[in-house]
Amino acid sequence: MPTPHPEPLVVYGPANHEYDFGPGHPFTPRRFGPGIDLLLELGANPDAFAPPQPASDEVLGSVHTAPFLASIHRLSEYPELVDHEAVTDSDTPPFYGMDRAAASVVGGTLGAMERILAGERIHAFHPGGGLHHAFPARATGFCVYNDLAVAIRRARDEGHRVLYLDVDVHHGDGVEGIFWDDPLVQTVSFHETGLHLFPGTGWVEDRGGLEADGSAVNIPLESGTSDGSWVEAVELVAPVVAAAFRPTILVTQQGCDSHALDPLANLQISTRAMSRVARLFDELAHRYAGGRWLATGGGGYDVYRVVPRAWALVWLAQAHRDAPTHTPRRWRERWAAEAAAFHAGPPPIEMFDPVGLTATESQRIVEVNRATVSRALEHTLRVLDGE
Ligand SMILES: [Zn+2]
Ligand SMILES: [Zn+2]
Repeated sequence: MPTPHPEPLVVYGPANHEYDFGPGHPFTPRRFGPGIDLLLELGANPDAFAPPQPASDEVLGSVHTAPFLASIHRLSEYPELVDHEAVTDSDTPPFYGMDRAAASVVGGTLGAMERILAGERIHAFHPGGGLHHAFPARATGFCVYNDLAVAIRRARDEGHRVLYLDVDVHHGDGVEGIFWDDPLVQTVSFHETGLHLFPGTGWVEDRGGLEADGSAVNIPLESGTSDGSWVEAVELVAPVVAAAFRPTILVTQQGCDSHALDPLANLQISTRAMSRVARLFDELAHRYAGGRWLATGGGGYDVYRVVPRAWALVWLAQAHRDAPTHTPRRWRERWAAEAAAFHAGPPPIEMFDPVGLTATESQRIVEVNRATVSRALEHTLRVLDGE
């Protein structure tokens, strides 16, 4: 094996911008402008970026069914056709070239995984990846193909034990479902309770299939959960599950729609908490998995105030660099006009949200979340320790 390159790999290229459901859709490729620019300002080396290449149908077939791929090809060629097979939903509307754009998201995440498996890098980050809602025969929740699942399956087929940690505000239902019966893939999803939020799943009692009891962990958190119990939940669950499962590689979905300013959900998380969690994942990768850690983006719909800083904090954790206290002035100046043109909040001055940006969670929320965490852990540890 070669000595790994010391810098984390960043997967980004023109193909990322092709994944676009059109004007007005929240999952906009405008995110890449201010997002990638902030990584560059903070010292990411553009020469080391890996542009995503589309994955072949054969590769996609490791997770998706042939009839589904055929339907997506047809809808991508003729997006105005009625989706008779109902393989998409109204949040995930077909667009021209959708198949190729989605295949590139998969190719980006899989390419990162292959470099980690080859020992070229220990850490990689694909901000445009993380399409955790896609199922083998269903595109849903802005996710057409499941890049995470294709990459995880590759690692698993090479004999790895994969720990998947998902901190997107929505339940990581697609990844969980695809590996439901696979004891070699441990999924853990921290999300806002499905009582009020898409996709409405991810309950504590959902723990994996008969062949893999305990291989799924779900931590549904109360609406209004803030930094205190979000960080507490991740810091209690992730290290304990890692210690019991003994992964040889980490895959994380770092969706930042849990942020207090995010328009689509109701958690109250700050960039301070997001940074702490990213650094915990780095620590776990080194402690258990020889450093092997593939991170992706995910949700995150406040394009200028939240997404760029959230991505930067993942990259900084992977680069083992301290975060600066302030965002670079040039970066703010470059994106202020575009933010204003889209009636969006401006690029923030501080990297870390001031205390007070996030609402304080009630004692009731703290207690319900604690009970959720202990119920989830109790079962999982009994099963994993009993192996
Ligand atoms: Zn590291
Ligand atoms: Zn999400």
